[in-house]
Amino acid sequence: MHKEDFSRLCHTLSSDKNNALSEAVLSVVKDHQNIKNKKKLPVVWLETNDSGDNNIAFMNTTYPYLGRVFEEMIDLLYSNTFMAAEGRDALNILDQVLNIYKGKFTLVVEGAIPIKDQGLYNIIARTKTRSITALEAVTRLGEPAEHVVAIGTCASFGGPSAARPNLTGSVGVRDVLDREVINVSGCPVNPDWFVGTLAHLLMYGKPELDQLGRPTLFYGFTIHRHCQRRSYFDQGDFAEKLGDIECMFSLGCIGPRTGADCPYRQWINHVSWPVKVNTPCIGCTNEDFPDGSTPFFTPMPEKNKKQGDQNSPAPGVDQV
Ligand code: SF4
Repeated sequence: MHKEDFSRLCHTLSSDKNNALSEAVLSVVKDHQNIKNKKKLPVVWLETNDSGDNNIAFMNTTYPYLGRVFEEMIDLLYSNTFMAAEGRDALNILDQVLNIYKGKFTLVVEGAIPIKDQGLYNIIARTKTRSITALEAVTRLGEPAEHVVAIGTCASFGGPSAARPNLTGSVGVRDVLDREVINVSGCPVNPDWFVGTLAHLLMYGKPELDQLGRPTLFYGFTIHRHCQRRSYFDQGDFAEKLGDIECMFSLGCIGPRTGADCPYRQWINHVSWPVKVNTPCIGCTNEDFPDGSTPFFTPMPEKNKKQGDQNSPAPGVDQV
């Protein structure tokens, strides 16, 4: 399959599971591997300062299922969350990865990186002689990696881990590495966004990114553009309370300045998303989430006034 056809597959507006990022992706990956005689994508996954929601979201991938992602798409070499090995055995694997896969592996980071006090607020491994901070692990592995992927909004931009008052000094991966980071933001990420990005890396290399480093395949348009309530917005028909069927801009919806394909990708095996179940978009893929989204359920102009910022559209997305 050509790269353009793969992009079309990811971009499809259909909610038909057979046409969404789906089982079709796996057969494309399989064909690609056969034709190019390529191996799976070698991945090192570090979980740092987060709630663990992104690995749970990843495990909920349904098209393709998780087992098939592991069997046919990625070779998970090291993961302080998923692997069975622990202690010195686990760290030995990490050393082997650095020797054997230097320049060939993809580093996935899930979570923000605390940098205050030399990063001691997030220890990812401990030996008899020392503790390894997330800051040390990410900087050590980030440089020799072929690609670095930040999964979730904490890893991408700091997210809830860096929210006021940010006592740990948490930042996104891009702030501790002097290199390009592919940001697959979301709180949590939609499994399609992450699995689709890995599929693109495996078959075609780096996907096209927006100005926030996010794949345009999934973040290229605002929520607002494809929202099912858009006609109400255009007519100036706004909800007065949760549960009303009209546009929820009046209730604090941030869809107009949030880039993501939730209205047609949808969640939970592609069946629903916030606006469909009567709750406004809170902008979880944005660079300034959550501080830029609060107070929740407050209309944007008022929200901005409360934050002392009259014009704060999130960068990286069109405003319609
Ligand atoms: S403001 Fe929110 S609810 Fe209204 S159309 Fe836009 S995304 Fe949909």
